[in-house]
Amino acid sequence: MNRQFGAFTASELYCPKCKRAQPVREKLLLVLPSGDLHEFLCTGCGASLAKRTVSGPSGPVTKAAASASPRTGARRGRLLN
Ligand SMILES: [Zn+2]
Repeated sequence: MNRQFGAFTASELYCPKCKRAQPVREKLLLVLPSGDLHEFLCTGCGASLAKRTVSGPSGPVTKAAASASPRTGARRGRLLN
């Protein structure tokens, strides 16, 4: 029962409606080109307590994979010849 996160991954936030720190539920709100917009909702009353944008690593990874695969093919061809 001792969860701590270095990054901004809140498991509890203060809710002004409940007037106490409440566990929050993370919900994907929007998918943007710059990243995914997440919203933290109070599990007690459902109020929106915070928002954050998560920029996924899918962009650079996809680029690296695309540039790597032709090289692998060329090497295979050389080895076969
Ligand atoms: Zn609340």
